[in-house]
Amino acid sequence: MTTRNHDEGQFEQLIEELSHLSSYTIGRSTNNAIVLSNSRISGQHARLIQCTPDSFLLEDLGSKNGTFVNGTRLTRKVVDRTTTLELADIPFTVEQLLDFQKPEPPENPDTIPQVQSRPVSSPEATQNPLDFTTQFAELKRVFEQYPTLRKDCRNREKMVRTGSIILSSIIGVSSVLATGGSALPLLQIMSGAGLSMLLPTLCSTLLSTEEKIEIIDKEYRERYRCPNPTCRDPFGTREWDFLAKQKTCRRCQAIWIK
Ligand SMILES: [Zn+2]
Repeated sequence: MTTRNHDEGQFEQLIEELSHLSSYTIGRSTNNAIVLSNSRISGQHARLIQCTPDSFLLEDLGSKNGTFVNGTRLTRKVVDRTTTLELADIPFTVEQLLDFQKPEPPENPDTIPQVQSRPVSSPEATQNPLDFTTQFAELKRVFEQYPTLRKDCRNREKMVRTGSIILSSIIGVSSVLATGGSALPLLQIMSGAGLSMLLPTLCSTLLSTEEKIEIIDKEYRERYRCPNPTCRDPFGTREWDFLAKQKTCRRCQAIWIK
């Protein structure tokens, strides 16, 4: 009994650690993570908070000449890697800004295991190219986690609790210990498990509830689709069980269930 409580405590602590999202300050001052030496850029101009591999929160830090997306001056906005934004009147994509990062020695790059979340196809398999049964099975978790995450993200304490339950269901305590409780390898493991990679964002104190919901909806829309890369038909609100009965994609003939 005590073991169980001990494990839960461990997962809660882990979620707490994971919820410290990476953020990149942008500005003219050399103490920024991304230094832009242009007189129209303020000393501390903006920052990007990384929420998932592709989603960021862009925040203006009270700059003189402003931060814009699609011509609209903003204080905060959820953006993608490919979003073009303007700092003062200078356009950058998020991707380009991240490339301007000061070359800092990354923390022990060699110790980060190259965890493939789950192999998409085993090399020896000469299986039917329309067989997407493994990938489709994983979407069950996306569909099931979506409403819970959306509901609980309004309350940080509840979210940490939900997070530790989800985490313990997908990763055993032994895997956690194997990573030394380090955040990055865990995120890589979590990237193959439904919407689990959203947990740090949803437990973070840096985002508002509305911003969290926007990111949950966005990731759900991007993931809950026909797994055939040439199709990617969005499933919307259709239940996973309903789709499972259908067995194949009517659009691309991909096999979801054998
Ligand atoms: Zn399809």
